[in-house]
Amino acid sequence: MNKLGVHALVWEAGWSHEECARAIAKTAEVGYDFIEAPALDPSLIDPDFTRRQLEAAGIGINFSLGLDFDSDISSGDPEKRRRGQAKLEDAIRVCRDCGGQYIGGILYSAFGKYYEPPTADGIAQSAETLRTVAEIAARSDITLVLEVVNRYETNICNTAAQGVEMMKRVGAPNVKVHLDVYHMNIEESDIASAIIDTGEHIGYFHTGDSHRGYMGSGSIDLASVFRALVRANYQGPITFESFSSRVVGQPLEGILGIWRNLWDDGHDLASHALMYTKAQLKAAQEAERQARERSRLPG
Ligand code: MN
Repeated sequence: MNKLGVHALVWEAGWSHEECARAIAKTAEVGYDFIEAPALDPSLIDPDFTRRQLEAAGIGINFSLGLDFDSDISSGDPEKRRRGQAKLEDAIRVCRDCGGQYIGGILYSAFGKYYEPPTADGIAQSAETLRTVAEIAARSDITLVLEVVNRYETNICNTAAQGVEMMKRVGAPNVKVHLDVYHMNIEESDIASAIIDTGEHIGYFHTGDSHRGYMGSGSIDLASVFRALVRANYQGPITFESFSSRVVGQPLEGILGIWRNLWDDGHDLASHALMYTKAQLKAAQEAERQARERSRLPG
């Protein structure tokens, strides 16, 4: 069974005690299994406080982050790589202390617009650092999932196939691929085929729609996406990710280009996304049974 989560930015821009408590309570109230909290700066998270809120609400947590250009582990500058490794190690400690199991996002490069293509050396440096960091994560049973994002947010993993290649270059059992339908809609030739081809390597999944607003109100064929996830036998976490100018602060607002107000009521948005996701998953599972079990001649 897929655990269903919602990104904290549906509720709150930051992670102060008040924001953390509100975001966790609302996530539980709507009925999600976990919240995904941004850890762009892990030092802003109070793990003891967060863990107490999670325990009181009865939900789990996972984290996501992107490195910045000053902490880019694909950089030729060893100082930047050192800062990136330290940030990833900080995120692992925070995740462990909060009881999380996954850290996703752009862990392999800066999260932002590059003006040059990646280099073979840069990719090798990134894979080497991730291998070291993955060993540390493994001691706390944490899986690192490499998010494949569009060309304006990294120059390394823009397609699912590149994500699989990067994962293999890192070569650690607790490193998998993190797919996001919003990015796939920009970069893949065929979203469903890319999901099926990535198959057992998918470790984490982000849902949403083409404009990152209400699910089903954009242009992505989400029915085929959920059918592909079921066909790929994906059982891992699925987070609904949505951003509106209503709730977002810097640096995410600037990097992601969140200029428009796509919704006002996070509770309505998150409730709808949970219903929609459950309905899509159920329909996709029935479609799979229809194809495999219920299309036989008698006898
Ligand atoms: Mn995402």
